Amino acid sequence: MLNNASELLFLIGTALGFVIRIFYAKRIKLGKIIDSRKTGGDSLLMFLSFIGWMVLPLIYLLTPLLDFADFQLPSGTSLIGVVFLVLALWLLWRAPADLGDNWSTRLHIRESHSLVTYGIYGYIRHPIYAAHWLWGIAQALLLQNWIAGLSALASFAPLYFLRVPNEEQMMLNHFGEEYRNYVQRTGRIFPRIRR
Ligand code: SAH
Repeated sequence: MLNNASELLFLIGTALGFVIRIFYAKRIKLGKIIDSRKTGGDSLLMFLSFIGWMVLPLIYLLTPLLDFADFQLPSGTSLIGVVFLVLALWLLWRAPADLGDNWSTRLHIRESHSLVTYGIYGYIRHPIYAAHWLWGIAQALLLQNWIAGLSALASFAPLYFLRVPNEEQMMLNHFGEEYRNYVQRTGRIFPRIRR
């Protein structure tokens, strides 16, 4: 059950994350899809990731059901958790704004799709996925519970490793040389160090 400031901050963060996601989902304009990498595995992993990101933390924060799996980290780690949570929220807010109408929750190329290489996408190719990694670490530091704390990291990892090669192949097929050049200038979730 909710019993300290870290958990309250995490609850507020979760509400904000949810509102941001709904805000962008409502704004999306549905152009004709000309390529889609929709697989059963991707749907199942997206569902599991949602459980790990939103559902298990809420069960932990609002009920005593998972309290048996609590652990304790040294004080101070919560502060790092808050920094990661704020960074994750900022990326979840900024990145879909940069993608504009090219954003989608699934792997789609739409008729009017353009390759975005500015804003955050000028540094890293997967800022939204980077946000989910940051969120997962924040969750582990703020919810000190083996199940609710680690569920976001555990459920996002398989989605990330399955999706990114698929997504990059789709972008390469569609944008060819332009995407190849873009890959050379950017990192996946860490900015490329320029020599
Ligand atoms: N992987 C990105 C985007 C996730 S949303 C991130 O983590 O921020 C997934 C959709 O974004 C895919 O359907 C893909 O077509 C689109 N997309 C990904 N990178 C893009 C880019 N640089 N420009 C335009 N669309 C992109």
